[in-house]
Amino acid sequence: MEKSFTTRSLNIPFPKDDPHRALDMPIYESIAFDFASSEDIAANFRGELPAHVYSRTSNPTLEYFERKMKTLTGAHQALAVASGMAAITNTILSLCKTGDNIIAGNHLFGHTFALFSESLTNYGLQTRFVDTTKPEAVEALIDANTRLIYFETVTNPQLEIADIEALVALANKYHLVLMIDSTITPPVVLNSKKLGVHVEVMSTTKFISGGATSFGGVILDNGLYDWSNNPNTAAFAAKFGPDAFISKLRKNYYRNTGASMTAHTAHYQIMGLDMLELRVERCYNNCMVLGEFLQKHPKVVKVTYPGLPGTPGYELAVKQFSGKPGTVMTFDLESQEACFKFMNQLGIIRRATNLNDNKSLIIHPYSTIYIEFPEEERLAVGIRPSMMRLSVGIEGAADLMADIEQALAKI
Ligand SMILES: *Cc1c(COP(=O)(O)O)cnc(C)c1O
Repeated sequence: MEKSFTTRSLNIPFPKDDPHRALDMPIYESIAFDFASSEDIAANFRGELPAHVYSRTSNPTLEYFERKMKTLTGAHQALAVASGMAAITNTILSLCKTGDNIIAGNHLFGHTFALFSESLTNYGLQTRFVDTTKPEAVEALIDANTRLIYFETVTNPQLEIADIEALVALANKYHLVLMIDSTITPPVVLNSKKLGVHVEVMSTTKFISGGATSFGGVILDNGLYDWSNNPNTAAFAAKFGPDAFISKLRKNYYRNTGASMTAHTAHYQIMGLDMLELRVERCYNNCMVLGEFLQKHPKVVKVTYPGLPGTPGYELAVKQFSGKPGTVMTFDLESQEACFKFMNQLGIIRRATNLNDNKSLIIHPYSTIYIEFPEEERLAVGIRPSMMRLSVGIEGAADLMADIEQALAKI
């Protein structure tokens, strides 16, 4: 029987022995590393003696965090970077070039949408946005210059879920890379390799960091894509075989864009990973208690959490995420005014952006995150004035429920 995620996380050996037999991976906050001889350093630069050289390129503490991510997920390779956005940017730049196009979900994290619709178009890289819950609509957009299909496992704040295996089948049919952003569904609830996903990226700033401790991102190559099929990785595939993507990332983009995670951050992320399963379980249980409570409350108009039976996406959540589709939910009151009044009365739940902090966080997306979009566009992407987004934390369920109850009583 496979050991639990937490047991496995706590028992992953360091890549190299520590001279003091430290029980926890030390924070190697050193920029450069010493070589025993000029012959050794020359051999390293020729690629014949693997070693840490300069921490922008690799670092022992980071290497351990990467090893943990790789071992826990079963991925072929893992690369840790400075943030979720760095993970997305480095991956896209490694797999696409000017003239290529990407097919992406039409409901994306705001800065990802801005990256695709503004920043990358400056370099002649086009993104075609589509409803990825409809594979036939995705297929209709594929042409000879399409390099990858990209979507988020649970969209935020719509909480829509696409059929991952259907999109994997489509990507395989056209030899495209299937790339997901799994931030909302961390590795304890999703094993992307089992579903056939080629590349998984995530913002570890959210769940994995241990509760808003630090910025981070991870890129996983599940080892399921033949890199000779992508014209932008084919030369690397000829030289590095299954390591083509990670080699291109490390040599061409990660190193050259300076998107590195610090050793100190890697230490936080390692600790967060060790406690990930506990926190996800706790937040999920809280979500279910709050979801059922809100569904019954007469002042609540609508509750959306695909962990609740009867909510759109519930069946896919059971199939893909063991019924635990992250721990973000939304609910509607009768108006924006009611939402504002309600939020002002909350004492334990904080009014803040960010997700998967240890603290429960609430926000009114229509008047904040989406304020730069015209009203029709907000409504078109499911951002209603009557809706709030709640990222459920690890507080006691009864305390959260009491906080919500007293605030609802005052509106
Ligand atoms: C937060 C987030 C990101 C960006 O991550 P950062 O670590 O803030 O750069 C990307 N995708 C999703 C789904 C997110 O929630």
